[in-house]
Amino acid sequence: MPTLVIGSGYGGAVAALRLTRAGVDTHIVEMGRAWTTPGADGRIFCDMLNPDGRAYWLRTRTAQPVGHLLGLPVDRGIDRYTGVLDAEDFPGIRVYQGRGVGGGSLVNGGMAVVPRRAYFEEILPGVDADEMYRTYFPRANAGLGVNEVDPAWFESAECYRFARVGRDAARRAGFATTFVPNVYDFDYMEQEQAGRVPRSALASEVIYGNNHGKRSLDKTYLAAAAATGRLTISPLHTVTGVAPAAGRGYRVEMVQTDTSGATVATKSVVADRVFFAAGSVGTSKLLVAMKALGRLPDLPDAVGRGWGNNGNVMVARVGHVWNPTGALQSGMPVVGIDNWASSAPVFAEIAPFPAGVELWISLYLAITKNPNRGGFAFDQTTGTVGLNWQTAQNRPSVEAARTVFDAVNRKEGTVYRSDLFGVGKVWGDDLTYHPLGGCVLGQATDAYGRLPGYPGLYVVDGSLIPGSTGVNPFVTITALAERNLDKIIMTDL
Ligand code: FAD
Repeated sequence: MPTLVIGSGYGGAVAALRLTRAGVDTHIVEMGRAWTTPGADGRIFCDMLNPDGRAYWLRTRTAQPVGHLLGLPVDRGIDRYTGVLDAEDFPGIRVYQGRGVGGGSLVNGGMAVVPRRAYFEEILPGVDADEMYRTYFPRANAGLGVNEVDPAWFESAECYRFARVGRDAARRAGFATTFVPNVYDFDYMEQEQAGRVPRSALASEVIYGNNHGKRSLDKTYLAAAAATGRLTISPLHTVTGVAPAAGRGYRVEMVQTDTSGATVATKSVVADRVFFAAGSVGTSKLLVAMKALGRLPDLPDAVGRGWGNNGNVMVARVGHVWNPTGALQSGMPVVGIDNWASSAPVFAEIAPFPAGVELWISLYLAITKNPNRGGFAFDQTTGTVGLNWQTAQNRPSVEAARTVFDAVNRKEGTVYRSDLFGVGKVWGDDLTYHPLGGCVLGQATDAYGRLPGYPGLYVVDGSLIPGSTGVNPFVTITALAERNLDKIIMTDL
C-alpha cells in the first residue's frame, strides 16, 4: 500500500512532492473536491459579490467574515454543496478553512510572509533557525512561486488605492509599513488592471477561489508531485479513523461523499505510513478522537493542546469622503503595518473591501501576540471533538490592535466602523483565518513531527505550530514541512 497523506493543503502538498520525488508512491485523501471543472456559468469559482453553493462547505447560507453592512446582515441563501470555504463554527470562534485539492491555498489572500527570526526562535526554540532561514524558507518561497508587487506600479495602480490610503494613514500616525510578497502573479494582475486579460483578483475573487492569476498548490507543489507519476488523489473522501492494522501498518477508514455531502461509500485501506495534513483543526480533531476512542491510546496528552488563532482580530475605520479607497480593489493584500517591535505587538494587513463601489472603508486583519491558548476535547455523548476557546480569550488581541488603530484614528480625525461585524460591534474578534497548533512540534510529536509510540505516523501541517507565527502562516507551515520531510526521508524510509 502506498504512503497515505490526509489532506492536500500546505503540509500535505510538501509531503506529496518530497515523498514522490524520493520514489515513494503516495496517495492523498482529500475531503474537498478537485476544483478543475467549471460550473454552468463556465467558471470554476464564484466571486465574492455573487456567492453560490461553490462558495461554502455544506451551508445553506453564506457566512461572510464581514457579515454586516450599515448594520444589516449581508448573508444570503445558497445551495448546499461541497464548496471551497468552510466556516467551521465552535462556540467561541468561527474558523475559516479551505476545502478542496489545494486546501487553504484555494481561498487565501496569498500573502507569503517569512516570520521575524527572533519570534520564530521564540515559538519553536527546538528548531535550528539557521537551517530554516538559510535553506527551508528560501525553498518554500521558490516552491510556492512567491513574487512581489512592482513598487512603481503599485503607486499608480487604481486597484491599490485602498492600500495606499491605509499605508499613508498608518505612516502619518508614526507606524512603519512594509510591502508583503504574495503568490498571486503580479504580471497577470498588471494585465488585469490594463484590461488585457480576464479579471480575477480585480473581479472580487479571493476567499471563494480565484479563476486566474493565483499560484495555488494545485498549480505548484501538487502539480510537481503529479509530474513524478507517483501521486494519486482521492477528492471527496473524508478520513474518519486511523488505527494500527493487524500485522503491520495502519488501517485508515474514510467515507466517500457526493457534492451534497451525502455518504456514497465507506472504505478502508492499510498504509505503512500515514501523514496527517488535515490542517490544525482537522488533524487535531482526528488525533483527539482516536486517542479518546482507544484507537491510538498511547498518543501523548499534549495532542489537542496548544491551539491558537494567531492573534487574529479584524477592524475597520470610516474614511474621509475626500480620500476614497476605490471602487476597484485587488483582492490580494500587499501592504502590512508592522508594529511588532512594541509592548503590544501587531502586524496588520491592509485588507481590501472589494465591493465594486466606493465605500470609504479601511479594513484590517491584525495579527497579534495573544498568549491565550485553547484545546480540543472529545465529547463522549455526541462522539465529536470540540474546540475550547472563548471569545473573551481574544481580548489581548483587541487591546493590542486598539493601540495602533486608536492612534491612526486620532491622527486622521476618523472613527471605527461599528456596522460590519454586527450592530454596534467594532471588533471582529470571534473569527480566525489562521488556526494553528493542537499537535505542537516537540510536545505532541518529536522534533520532526513523528507521533511517539506509533512508528510511521507523522504530523506535517499547521497543527505543529504553537498557536502563533506573528505573520500570515503558510510560508512557515511550508518551510517547516520541507525541513521535517528532509529528515524523515533521510532516516525513516
Ligand atoms: P490546510 O491548508 O487547511 O489543508 C488541510 C486540508 O485537509 C484541507 O484541504 C481539508 O479539506 C483537508 N481535510 C481536513 N480534514 C480532513 C479529513 N478528515 N479527511 C480528508 N481531508 C481532510 N495564510 C497566509 O499565509 N497568507 C494569507 O494571505 C492567508 N489568507 C487566508 C485567507 C483565508 C480566507 C483563509 C481561510 C486562510 C488564510 N490563510 C493565509 C491561512 C492559510 O491558508 C492556512 O494557514 C493554511 O492553509 C494551513 O495549511 P495546512 O497545511 O495546515 O492546512
